[in-house]
Amino acid sequence: MYAQDSPHTTTTTERGSFALARCSCGWTGPARRSRDKARTDATDHLRTAADPEA
Ligand SMILES: [Zn+2]
Repeated sequence: MYAQDSPHTTTTTERGSFALARCSCGWTGPARRSRDKARTDATDHLRTAADPEA
């Protein structure tokens, strides 16, 4: 079984009318017009960070 804790903790930040995802590992997603898109970026980052082969 894999441990649940991860070095990747994502949050979304708003910059004016844009939203972007950030991660505790230092990764930052692109600025998005919608927070939903930023959340999707964060989810994608978590998936690829957890499975480098993806
Ligand atoms: Zn990360």
